Amino acid sequence: MTKTVFSLCFMCTVRCPIKVEVENGQVKWIEGNPHVPGMQGSLCPRGVAAIALVNDPERIQGPMVRTGPRGSGEWKRVSWDEALNLVASKLQEIAKSYGWRSIVWGERANLNTHVVKTFMRLIGSPNYFSHDALCKGSVNTACRSLFGYTDPEIGIDYKNTKHIVLYGRNFFEALEVRPVNFLLQAMEEGAKLTYIDPRVTVTATKAHNYFMIRPGTDLAFNYALMHVIIKEKLYDVKFVERWVKGFQELEAFIQPYTPEWAEKETGIPAARIVALARELSQQKPSVIFHFGYRGASHPNEIYFRRSILMLNALMGSIEAKGGLFFKKGPKEAGGKPARKLTEQDGLPKVTEVRFDKVGTEVFPLPDPNHGVPQMLPFAILNEDPYPIKAAIFNRFDPLLSIPDRSLTERAFEKLDFIVTIDIQWSDIAWHSDVVLPESVFLERTDCVQQANGLKPQMFLRRQAVLPRYDTLPAPIIVKRLADRLGFGRFFPYETMEDLVKWQLEGTGFTLEDFDRKGFVAYTDKEIWWDRENGLKLKTPSSKIEFVSSLLENAGYPSFPPYEPVLPPPEGRYRLMVGRCAQHTHISTQNNPYLNELVPENVLWINRREAERLGINNGDFVEVSSSCGDVCLRAYVTDLIHPEAVFMLHGFGHTARFATRSFGKGAADVVLQENKSDNVGGSPALDDTLVRVRRAYRK
Ligand code: SF4
Repeated sequence: MTKTVFSLCFMCTVRCPIKVEVENGQVKWIEGNPHVPGMQGSLCPRGVAAIALVNDPERIQGPMVRTGPRGSGEWKRVSWDEALNLVASKLQEIAKSYGWRSIVWGERANLNTHVVKTFMRLIGSPNYFSHDALCKGSVNTACRSLFGYTDPEIGIDYKNTKHIVLYGRNFFEALEVRPVNFLLQAMEEGAKLTYIDPRVTVTATKAHNYFMIRPGTDLAFNYALMHVIIKEKLYDVKFVERWVKGFQELEAFIQPYTPEWAEKETGIPAARIVALARELSQQKPSVIFHFGYRGASHPNEIYFRRSILMLNALMGSIEAKGGLFFKKGPKEAGGKPARKLTEQDGLPKVTEVRFDKVGTEVFPLPDPNHGVPQMLPFAILNEDPYPIKAAIFNRFDPLLSIPDRSLTERAFEKLDFIVTIDIQWSDIAWHSDVVLPESVFLERTDCVQQANGLKPQMFLRRQAVLPRYDTLPAPIIVKRLADRLGFGRFFPYETMEDLVKWQLEGTGFTLEDFDRKGFVAYTDKEIWWDRENGLKLKTPSSKIEFVSSLLENAGYPSFPPYEPVLPPPEGRYRLMVGRCAQHTHISTQNNPYLNELVPENVLWINRREAERLGINNGDFVEVSSSCGDVCLRAYVTDLIHPEAVFMLHGFGHTARFATRSFGKGAADVVLQENKSDNVGGSPALDDTLVRVRRAYRK
């Protein structure tokens, strides 16, 4: 028996629409959904490798309860009833002693997040956080400070652009399929690509302009661009006069930041900065300064991300073809969005202070929908603002994602109870007390994806095959837990199909409507707001706030003076981390296909520096920071700035049951110091200095 199922990939968070061919209950083929513009049948390597995920015997095959010390690998397979009864009774016991606020739930935000948020409100804990904040909390805050919208509410019109500027956004390796196809199409039609990065990535090799910038100085580069754009009146005067608040203040602020000044700071010749500013102004408003996918590198991250967004506004590329746009929801097309469980009447409001103090004077600006996860170890260790005693992690691995692993490990020793919901053995699953296995995305239906954009649509992840093992979708796990805690009525479903039907009530669409193409559309016409008078900005002034009420009301300046980035002392290097096309964060290293393609990470080091240290290509090197040390092979190259070294994120796993990834490469979090951009909320992942020396054995 064969069938075709339209669904959504979940090998990363991009959610590419896919077409899955199933034969006799087995996934035989996956490709990009041909009905969705930009997919063109294509997938990235990770999407294709999903086939290997379903039948992988190294998946977690049923609920597990720890029987030996944490991390010993001693487990007992139990029934779902046994596992969920244990979780419910432990949570109740902890809540009795410390209150429900002592329970945190951390996850990678996903289509089912509203289910978990409902659960947390019902138990009365404010402590939900998402991995997203570790990646781009400051991008979110920067977007809100200028437009009143978060970054996911802002889209990028790649296919019509004439020039895109990427700051370390390694577009052709840290992949999103549709944007890549759209940009390649635009480049075939003449669009230019400018790429700025201390490392020559695949994206750099495709660029028309490449700048090997001194690590950490991108903000200086942007200030010099603004200087030229304003001094030579290269900006979109009409747009700026109509929509920008605080242009004069920026003009005064930017005076000292000349291209010659920036040359000394960034290492980029002043003449090239001037030439770039002039070239971009010729192509405005179809210009994109990409505000970043990850934006968590430095303590001044929010100001760097704001500078990128301000450059877009200066070019008039907001709500312009080939620039940025605000995503339109169903209401713009006269429709209704899918319901969320959080919208139900009778849900309690939780007013307690969060573990990370978001919303207080410590962190007034980060988005409470995501929190500041890197504060979790400090909150647990210091019992500040109160004791945290239990943690539930869903498809999120704090041990491989929060900087300073030894700090996180020390903190987690203080937790009385750790539960992990995941599809495979992550490091945190390995160190948990109970592990609840989730069905992989090809085996389950998920909640509706409200895909806002120029044409608002809804997509659905559909079950393609039955679960191979004794696993469940996360919303079913949450519901069964809620039943045991006495508030199951807020989860009005038995199956995922029930939940989707509940969500679709009142929208005018049915579950069956998704069968034909995998999505439904509220309109077939693109919705653009009128640039003269129709931008619905959500800032207090209804303008793009260069002078930001959000920042200034919280006591932060809109334009703090630039703080120079000093070169590292001799023998030390700025540690940079990043992604490749074959892996997603920490979640794909044990996939049989992807592991074969990229089994471990290496340390990129500049040839001149390597020679000074007596390091040859392929040698093992010891890399150490104030937090810890790791050993991995050196990749000696001219393709990285001498002040930096680079390693891929996501390796160095310690869960022994995941045999392909176990002990391969090294984890960046062992080296990274746990520092933050205290205004925007992101960690400063590229702000650690490391020493490198040749190691004589691993
Ligand atoms: S980018 Fe790749 S892994 Fe991510 S959703 Fe798309 S196909 Fe899947």
